[in-house]
Amino acid sequence: MLPTCQHCHTPWTYTDTLKNMLQLRCPYCQQKNYLSKKVRMRDALFSLLPIPIMILFNVSFPWILGLGANIILVLALIYPYIIQLSKHEDPLW
Ligand SMILES: [Zn+2]
Repeated sequence: MLPTCQHCHTPWTYTDTLKNMLQLRCPYCQQKNYLSKKVRMRDALFSLLPIPIMILFNVSFPWILGLGANIILVLALIYPYIIQLSKHEDPLW
Protein backbone atom coordinates (compact mmCIF):
# COMPACT_ATOMS: atom_id res chain seq x y z
CA MET A 1 0.00 0.00 0.00
CA LEU A 2 1.49 3.31 -1.06
CA PRO A 3 0.67 6.38 1.04
CA THR A 4 -2.15 8.76 0.16
CA CYS A 5 -1.96 12.47 0.81
CA GLN A 6 -4.20 13.26 3.78
CA HIS A 7 -5.10 16.69 2.36
CA CYS A 8 -6.00 16.08 -1.28
CA HIS A 9 -6.30 12.27 -1.09
CA THR A 10 -4.07 11.77 -4.10
CA PRO A 11 -2.15 8.51 -3.85
CA TRP A 12 1.60 8.99 -4.04
CA THR A 13 3.67 6.90 -6.39
CA TYR A 14 6.74 5.03 -5.24
CA THR A 15 9.06 7.74 -6.61
CA ASP A 16 6.92 10.57 -5.18
CA THR A 17 7.30 9.02 -1.75
CA LEU A 18 11.04 8.45 -2.03
CA LYS A 19 11.57 12.02 -3.22
CA ASN A 20 9.46 13.38 -0.37
CA MET A 21 10.39 10.98 2.38
CA LEU A 22 12.15 13.62 4.46
CA GLN A 23 9.78 16.54 3.98
CA LEU A 24 6.60 14.53 3.34
CA ARG A 25 5.29 17.47 1.35
CA CYS A 26 2.64 16.42 -1.16
CA PRO A 27 3.85 16.93 -4.76
CA TYR A 28 0.24 17.53 -5.85
CA CYS A 29 -1.17 20.01 -3.32
CA GLN A 30 2.10 21.12 -1.61
CA GLN A 31 0.65 20.47 1.85
CA LYS A 32 2.76 18.95 4.55
CA ASN A 33 1.96 15.48 5.79
CA TYR A 34 3.29 13.84 8.92
CA LEU A 35 4.09 10.29 9.79
CA SER A 36 1.30 8.67 11.73
CA LYS A 37 1.88 7.92 15.37
CA LYS A 38 1.90 4.16 14.74
CA VAL A 39 4.72 4.45 12.20
CA ARG A 40 6.82 6.67 14.43
CA MET A 41 6.44 4.28 17.38
CA ARG A 42 7.53 1.41 15.15
CA ASP A 43 10.53 3.38 13.86
CA ALA A 44 11.55 4.19 17.42
CA LEU A 45 11.37 0.50 18.32
CA PHE A 46 13.37 -0.44 15.22
CA SER A 47 16.16 1.93 16.13
CA LEU A 48 16.44 0.35 19.57
CA LEU A 49 16.52 -3.18 18.16
CA PRO A 50 20.34 -3.48 17.80
CA ILE A 51 20.87 -3.04 21.55
CA PRO A 52 19.21 -6.31 22.72
CA ILE A 53 20.79 -8.11 19.72
CA MET A 54 24.23 -6.91 20.82
CA ILE A 55 23.63 -8.06 24.37
CA LEU A 56 22.00 -11.40 23.49
CA PHE A 57 24.44 -12.51 20.82
CA ASN A 58 27.51 -10.75 22.18
CA VAL A 59 28.34 -9.32 18.76
CA SER A 60 30.78 -6.54 18.18
CA PHE A 61 29.81 -2.99 17.43
CA PRO A 62 31.24 -2.90 13.84
CA TRP A 63 29.18 -5.99 13.02
CA ILE A 64 26.03 -4.21 14.26
CA LEU A 65 26.93 -1.15 12.17
CA GLY A 66 27.20 -3.36 9.07
CA LEU A 67 23.89 -5.00 9.86
CA GLY A 68 22.31 -1.61 10.58
CA ALA A 69 23.51 -0.21 7.25
CA ASN A 70 21.90 -3.14 5.44
CA ILE A 71 18.66 -2.78 7.37
CA ILE A 72 18.53 0.95 6.59
CA LEU A 73 19.10 0.25 2.90
CA VAL A 74 16.29 -2.31 2.80
CA LEU A 75 14.00 -0.03 4.83
CA ALA A 76 14.65 2.87 2.44
CA LEU A 77 13.64 0.66 -0.49
CA ILE A 78 10.41 -0.54 1.12
CA TYR A 79 9.74 2.75 2.93
CA PRO A 80 6.95 3.92 0.61
CA TYR A 81 5.05 0.73 1.45
CA ILE A 82 5.40 0.89 5.21
CA ILE A 83 4.57 4.50 6.03
CA GLN A 84 1.21 5.96 6.86
CA LEU A 85 0.54 9.66 6.57
CA SER A 86 -1.27 11.82 9.02
CA LYS A 87 -2.65 15.33 8.56
CA HIS A 88 -1.32 16.63 11.85
CA GLU A 89 1.67 15.88 13.91
CA ASP A 90 0.28 13.66 16.69
CA PRO A 91 2.06 13.70 20.02
CA LEU A 92 4.05 10.51 20.46
CA TRP A 93 2.62 9.71 23.86
ZN1 LIG B 1 -1.87 16.44 -1.47
